[in-house]
Amino acid sequence: MITYPFQYKRANSVADAVALLADGGKALSGGHSLIPAMKLRLNAPDTLVDVGRLEELKGISVDGNELVIGAGTTHGAIASSPLVQQHLPMFADGASHIGDPAVRNRGTIGGSLAHADPSADWPAMVIAADATLVLQGPSGSRSVKAEQFFTGLFSTALHENELITQVRVPIQAGAKMTYQKFSQPASRYAIVGCAVVKQADGSLRVAFSGVSEAPFRDKAAEEKLKAGQEADAATGVSIMSDHYASEEYRKHLANVYLKRAMQAVN
Ligand SMILES: Cc1cc2nc3c(=O)[nH]c(=O)nc-3n(C[C@H](O)[C@H](O)[C@H](O)COP(=O)(O)OP(=O)(O)OC[C@H]3O[C@@H](n4cnc5c(N)ncnc54)[C@H](O)[C@@H]3O)c2cc1C
Repeated sequence: MITYPFQYKRANSVADAVALLADGGKALSGGHSLIPAMKLRLNAPDTLVDVGRLEELKGISVDGNELVIGAGTTHGAIASSPLVQQHLPMFADGASHIGDPAVRNRGTIGGSLAHADPSADWPAMVIAADATLVLQGPSGSRSVKAEQFFTGLFSTALHENELITQVRVPIQAGAKMTYQKFSQPASRYAIVGCAVVKQADGSLRVAFSGVSEAPFRDKAAEEKLKAGQEADAATGVSIMSDHYASEEYRKHLANVYLKRAMQAVN
C-alpha cells in the first residue's frame, strides 16, 4: 500500500522544525507509526517535517539528578546505552523488547510518546519512572509530567505546533524497577504492560500500557500494595476489548503482570 502525495520538508534545527510545524506540517521522526498510518489513510497530513536527522534531538546524558534522553533517540540506542543500563535498567530492558531490530533502529522514544498508541511500551515506563517531557513550541518550551501527558486514545497534551525535545527522568538511588509485558507475538506491542518503580524507602509507582485507551498510573493498586494488601489491578478503569484480548482476559492479565512486576522489585 502506498501513501497519497504529500509535501516533504527537512528541518535544519529544532527552531526550524517548530516554524515549519506552525505552517501546518506534521513531524516525521522514525516514521514507524506515522508512515503506516498514512498508508492506511488513518492520518493524512499534507506536509511532513522531517526531524529524524536533528542531532539536537538525539543522545542520552546525565544532568544533575536526571537522566536526559533526546526525543529523537531510537529505542535501540536506549537499549544499548550504558548510562540507561546503569541508572534506568527498566528503560534499557523495555526498549530491547520493542518490535524487532528494524523498528528499534528507526523508531524513537519521542515518536512513540507523541503517537500515544494505547499498546505502546514507553507510556507505562515514563509514568512509573515519574518522567517529565519537555515540549518546544513557537513561544518557548514547557514541561509536562508524563502522568499528565496522555489524555486519551492516541491523544496527548502536545499541541500541533509543538515538538517533544527531551524526556527527563529522575535518577533514584537504590530504586528497583521493572517493565513486564504480555506482548502481541508478531508486533511485540503490549497487550498488557506493567511498569513498577519501587524506591529505597518502599514507596511505589505502578503504571499500565495496553489495558485502557490511555496509559495510566494505578494509584489504587499502589495504595493496597503499600498497605501490604493484595492489589486488584486497574480498578475503576475502562478496560479495552479487542480481537487480541477480551476485557475480562485483559483484566486477568493486568493482575498477573502486576504480580510478576512486584515479584521482580521485591
Ligand atoms: C512492525 C512494528 C512493530 C512495533 N512494535 C512495537 C512494540 O512492540 N512496542 C511499541 O511500543 N511500539 C512498537 N512499534 C511502534 C514503534 O515503536 C514506533 O517507532 C513508534 O511508536 C513511533 O516512533 P517513530 O520515531 O517511528 O515516530 P513517527 O512514526 O515518525 O511519528 C509518530 C507520531 O509522533 C509524532 N512525532 C514524532 N516525533 C515527534 C517529536 N519529537 N515531537 C512531537 N511529535 C513527534 C509524529 O508527528 C507522529 O504523529 C512498532 C512499529 C512497527 C512498524
